[in-house]
Amino acid sequence: MSIFRKEAEPQQYLIKEKQLTCSHCGNDTFRMADIMIHYRGDITNSYATAFICTVCTQATWFTGNPGDLA
Ligand SMILES: [Zn+2]
Repeated sequence: MSIFRKEAEPQQYLIKEKQLTCSHCGNDTFRMADIMIHYRGDITNSYATAFICTVCTQATWFTGNPGDLA
């Protein structure tokens, strides 16, 4: 069972009006996934958005709303 709730096709993303690039390899295409976060002692669940580099697989995480995605 995957921890990923959904995963979109690889694409480029703008976050807060800035092109998202991988901090490790410099690639600019990612797969987006919503990931459930369970805080210890908290009965509610939260979600984070992860952008997974299509080249090196490093994940860049944003908690809350990363803003308008393009
Ligand atoms: Zn990368």
